[in-house]
Amino acid sequence: MCQKAAGNYFLPLGSFARADFTMTRGMPKWFASSDLVRRGFCEVCGTPLFYDIPETDFITVALGSLDDSDAVRPAMQSNTGRKMSWFHALDTLPLEPVAQTSRREDAIAASNHQHPDHDTAVWPPNAGRER
Ligand SMILES: [Zn+2]
Repeated sequence: MCQKAAGNYFLPLGSFARADFTMTRGMPKWFASSDLVRRGFCEVCGTPLFYDIPETDFITVALGSLDDSDAVRPAMQSNTGRKMSWFHALDTLPLEPVAQTSRREDAIAASNHQHPDHDTAVWPPNAGRER
């Protein structure tokens, strides 16, 4: 289910005490992915934000959505039953030369419409404008 929710091969998650968690701006949009679980995401950009079982005293956050996701190191793997059989070999694959991608990646970064990795005074900057 996390693969579908993230549209990816896995979804790094971290759980926090619900009492210690505060949304600093806005509210997520929720999708009931099962009878027990709801998935929270940003309705503006679609970023997956939460895996939540409302009756529990914890909330689970999509770690890739954090401003500094590199600061949170994985501590364990779970639900590995559907882990891709080739996943362990990713670090052995050849690397795409940087020179072939940097110009395009720079253009994408320069025109990025996703929320930046820091808080902003206003978000979204062009509310109501969709492409
Ligand atoms: Zn967003």
